[in-house]
Amino acid sequence: MALIKCSECGKSISDKAKACPKCGAPINKEFNTYALAGFILSLISMIINIVSFVALYMSAKGFDQIKITNEKGKGLAITGFIISAIYGITFIYKLLVYNNLI
Ligand SMILES: [Zn+2]
Repeated sequence: MALIKCSECGKSISDKAKACPKCGAPINKEFNTYALAGFILSLISMIINIVSFVALYMSAKGFDQIKITNEKGKGLAITGFIISAIYGITFIYKLLVYNNLI
């Protein structure tokens, strides 16, 4: 059993609880929006490399939020971060080659 923080009142509660015992807020077990968006954008960045910078930001933000809210999508955030990092580097590399800098 792990303790997570209630997104409403900040009380430490069990991650198995369905709702916060203090304020009654439902425990969010949905996918984190940023992690999900970051992952999808990282896939798009395979084709449109420049999108990877947005994907990188979204994934990092999603991962940060999941650490606090314990939402689903940690794996997605990490995968999205790695994919977008690769294609971000690809984008910079292509840019340098295109401009005859390397
Ligand atoms: Zn609460």
